[in-house]
Amino acid sequence: MSRFFSKKYEKLVPYVPGEQPQDRSYIKLNTNESPFQASPKAQARAQEAMGRLQLYSDPYCTLLTKKAADLYGVSTDEVLFTNGSDELLNFVIMAFCDGDTPAAFPDITYGFYTVFADLNAVPYRQIPLQADFSVNAADYIGCNKTVIIANPNAPTGLALPISDVEAIVKSNPNNVVVIDEAYVDFGGETAVPLIKKYDNLLIVQTFSKSRSMAGARLGMAIGSPQLIADLRAIQFSTNPFNVNAMTMAAGLGALEDEAYFKRNCAKIIENREWTTLQLSKLGFTTIPSQTNFILTKTSAIGGKALYLALKSKGILIRHFDKPRLRDYIRVTIGTAEEMGAFIAAVQQILEENV
Ligand SMILES: *Cc1c(COP(=O)(O)O)cnc(C)c1O
Repeated sequence: MSRFFSKKYEKLVPYVPGEQPQDRSYIKLNTNESPFQASPKAQARAQEAMGRLQLYSDPYCTLLTKKAADLYGVSTDEVLFTNGSDELLNFVIMAFCDGDTPAAFPDITYGFYTVFADLNAVPYRQIPLQADFSVNAADYIGCNKTVIIANPNAPTGLALPISDVEAIVKSNPNNVVVIDEAYVDFGGETAVPLIKKYDNLLIVQTFSKSRSMAGARLGMAIGSPQLIADLRAIQFSTNPFNVNAMTMAAGLGALEDEAYFKRNCAKIIENREWTTLQLSKLGFTTIPSQTNFILTKTSAIGGKALYLALKSKGILIRHFDKPRLRDYIRVTIGTAEEMGAFIAAVQQILEENV
């Protein structure tokens, strides 16, 4: 830290992204990316946009917003796009939390929630997950805080039923309830239709996982026109041209190719179920996942040791050195071929280990 760094950031603990090592080629099952390329339509649209790079991008993402509104059954003033949903989560904390309105989210969840709260000096309460790693909806009923819940949650993969989401939203009419649906397309149920009924519900989605666009950076908010206007004020006060022209065009192409998107989600679900079954045959316990990753453990080898052994065999997965997660590994679901290689490597490691 230089002597010039603002005192207000003295205690900042930045987010630690999953590793992206360049030393050799890995089977990458560590950051919940899609193993499939972005839709050919998305790529073609981005290519077209490259001919217009001399112009600023559209700060309202007009065409993309119209397409998304049609697809999700909402109006254009109920949608806002951002530079990845990480940017959107920061906007959410800036817009809807302060000293009088703390944030509340599970103790085991997406790591960025605490980072953005700390960055904005917003107090927060981390509510423990239950013993089985599920969110207890009752903990959030009438809690009078800005609630942020990833549904399905990460890194557990578990989803809260939509009736629980509605109960939380309904019981906190004077607070915003943010549902982060980064993984909803892999078997969860979206709360988007509820925005018509509740003006305090904000849905956060991303093109990074199910739409294979992690590198393009595109996030989407869906909520009441008033909530969207608040987020727009933050956008225009920080970075009005937050979504670049190529990403905006690619996003439109991705939404024009629902068939490709649905086929890929179905493949991931199929590979997830296959992997879970193979792991159970090898003695692993896997938390039932509704996402593109699984959290799994075995008494035969610790999480860290398994992570290191897999890495030495060219397979990257994620290990969290934290209480309650230490025994587990989190494995992103890749192609059938990648999951075959993962299972073969795990089997080999277990045999070498005895
Ligand atoms: C991956 C992820 C995000 C962030 O995605 P972006 O790439 O910034 O759009 C947000 N929330 C959760 C729970 C995630 O896992």
